[in-house]
Amino acid sequence: MTKPATLDPRPHGFDAWRAREDFPILKTEAHGKPLVYLDSAASAQKPRAVIEAVRHVYEAEYANIHRGVYELSEKTTAAFEGAREKVRAFLNAPEAREILFVRGATEGINLVAQSFGRAFLKEGDEIILSALEHHSNIVPWQLLRDITGIVLRVVPVNNAGELEIDAYAELLNTRTRLVAMTHVSNAIGTVTPIHDIVRLAHERGVPVLVDGCQAVPHQKVDVQDFDCDFYVFSGHKLYGPSGIGVLYGKAKHLEAMPPYQGGGDMIRSVTFEKTDYNVIPHKFEAGTPHIAGAIGLGAAIDYLEGLGIPEIMAHEQAVLHYATERLSRIRGLRPIGTAREKASILSFVLDRAHPHDVGTVLDGEGVAIRTGHHCAQPLMERFGIPATARASFGLYNTPEDVDALAAGLEKVLEIFG
Ligand code: PMP
Repeated sequence: MTKPATLDPRPHGFDAWRAREDFPILKTEAHGKPLVYLDSAASAQKPRAVIEAVRHVYEAEYANIHRGVYELSEKTTAAFEGAREKVRAFLNAPEAREILFVRGATEGINLVAQSFGRAFLKEGDEIILSALEHHSNIVPWQLLRDITGIVLRVVPVNNAGELEIDAYAELLNTRTRLVAMTHVSNAIGTVTPIHDIVRLAHERGVPVLVDGCQAVPHQKVDVQDFDCDFYVFSGHKLYGPSGIGVLYGKAKHLEAMPPYQGGGDMIRSVTFEKTDYNVIPHKFEAGTPHIAGAIGLGAAIDYLEGLGIPEIMAHEQAVLHYATERLSRIRGLRPIGTAREKASILSFVLDRAHPHDVGTVLDGEGVAIRTGHHCAQPLMERFGIPATARASFGLYNTPEDVDALAAGLEKVLEIFG
């Protein structure tokens, strides 16, 4: 198989083959074969710049933050707050105090559900989700529903896995209090029309939370351009450490919302009678945070911006295009999710083999893909299947990786006939 011209690194100034050198883990083997890592949507691998940044924190710059009066603590605090500023610039948020460090997207969504939701929503109020959501943008709202009696409404998707925007417009009504919607589906790669989603909601004065977990690694995100009210993502999918993530929120919301957790750092003063809370972002960052994680996330952002996010996107789209075409020639393979606008995620089923068997055979060939419901069981139900096999491509994936996937799938067909 010859390399398609669109994958020549030169036209769009991005050389994935060179970038691979930055990722030590890509030199390792699985079952004695070179690792072909196609599960970046679950978690992306880490470049040396991130590994070194985390190591540097623990070797040279580590103390608790915000409290110490000594030089080392001040240095760590500056690095931690510097990472917040990097995230602000990355999302083009107006102010650094609108960036909250959380454990990940899951915690960010739970924070909004428990703080915004419990304070401002009441029985009969409605929240609009979509059929594309990850469980972490469904279950927190169900927990809130059980406490408050709110109603969850779901925007359907068409057979290609695209959001039905007209149905969304019809679901918006005078009882709608919040829209919580994914930017990119982790299970099938659909990119949702965030501008339209926000515009239609704002016409009715309804705030919008966007789950950007699967968007930030693949495209430039500008929260001012989207005008969304909240935006969440996880560091580990952005080539950064796990256990760190971000919730962006407009200051007007964050200031009005009560704290999510109580503890150190989120207070101004405490007596047994009364506590005064700190200003944002600290009001929402109780306890010692994942200091090295935040600094590592800042290093990941520096790394990606050094490569160029538009260039990464162009490369990944070319790989996706190649993979879509290459896999269409595998006998009995049915792609799940064929939206016109997709991130580099390819879900499929084979008529002869269960996705788990596909994953196991591929694993034997050194090819790591994800199989299962991808924490999106309602979406699987929509397509009438229990699971898919999913290959997801990061900046370091090449057409050779696609060829290895295709060869592995041919092997699956040999075994399962
Ligand atoms: N939303 C989406 C779209 C995701 O892909 C994921 C992770 N698979 C999450 C939310 C949850 O992220 P985390 O587990 O890092 O909190």
